[in-house]
Amino acid sequence: MAENTDSEFKSGFIALIGRPNAGKSTLLNRLLGQKLAIISNKPQTTRNRILGIRNLPAGQIVFLDTPGIHHSQSRLNQALVKTALATYHEVDGVCFLIEADHPDNPENDFILETLQGVPGPVFLLINKIDLVSKEGLLPIMERFSRRRSFAQIIPVSALKGDGEEILVRELLKILPEGPRLFPEDMITDLPERFLAAELIREKVFRLTRQEIPYATAVEVEEFKEREEKNLIAIKAIIQVERESQKGVLIGKKGLMLKEIGRLAREDMEALLGAKVFLEIWVKVEKNWREDPRALRRMGFQ
Ligand code: GDP
Ligand code: MG
Repeated sequence: MAENTDSEFKSGFIALIGRPNAGKSTLLNRLLGQKLAIISNKPQTTRNRILGIRNLPAGQIVFLDTPGIHHSQSRLNQALVKTALATYHEVDGVCFLIEADHPDNPENDFILETLQGVPGPVFLLINKIDLVSKEGLLPIMERFSRRRSFAQIIPVSALKGDGEEILVRELLKILPEGPRLFPEDMITDLPERFLAAELIREKVFRLTRQEIPYATAVEVEEFKEREEKNLIAIKAIIQVERESQKGVLIGKKGLMLKEIGRLAREDMEALLGAKVFLEIWVKVEKNWREDPRALRRMGFQ
């Protein structure tokens, strides 16, 4: 691949922020051009700071997926918000995703508040434009640009790929000149066992109702590689707060947990390039979100 001269090469960090369901993971996966761009639990720092790397001839963009910001008073949430706020100051730019089909809601108002005083450029990405008419976009752009100034407002469809090229081009423009930050063949800096936990969490998120995921933490207890067999044995615990949540996760005749396990295992095998033997247990730990010791174990300070 032809590359620009070193002096023109650009590199830097971009945070993705948006309410749950805005399409952050979908966008990240598309930007990284592979299914498993998802990263995860970085214990000593954050619960869930997803990082992915897009390599281009002209530069390298490193994406941080900030944990969802919710306006709630739980300790967990306060920790997440702190993480997000800290992230804003470590990056070269922020992408704020909203949904074209329902852009106005209290969560977006709250995110806008947290974005006040962010030093770098903030891009507004109006996602899911495949769900609305073109005429519907203009009023959204007008409304949001009255609330703060954005470096750019870019309509995209993370699902279909519309706007991706423009987005990448505009992001590259604001990155500082600099060398590659990570090797070209690297898509994440996080260890594989945390990727495994994140893949399980993602399936829980996808297959259960909204209230379950926020009460969920996944810990990978064992990650044993048997190289001679090209097999990895993984044992994971899904922690929930209530028996009822455990019931939902296990499902009728264990079918939900089986499906979570099947999908997670398929993704793990694709990611790790080995056969995976996956064992998942569901454990009730009451109020872990309010328990300082449990939070510390999950990686919160
Ligand atoms: P996250 O919670 O912000 O990471 O959101 P996800 O990436 O998990 O997406 C939430 C849901 O929105 C999923 O069902 C996606 O398929 C869907 N979605 C994401 N982007 C688009 C889009 O551009 N168009 C449409 N129609 N759906 C999308
Ligand atoms: Mg996500």
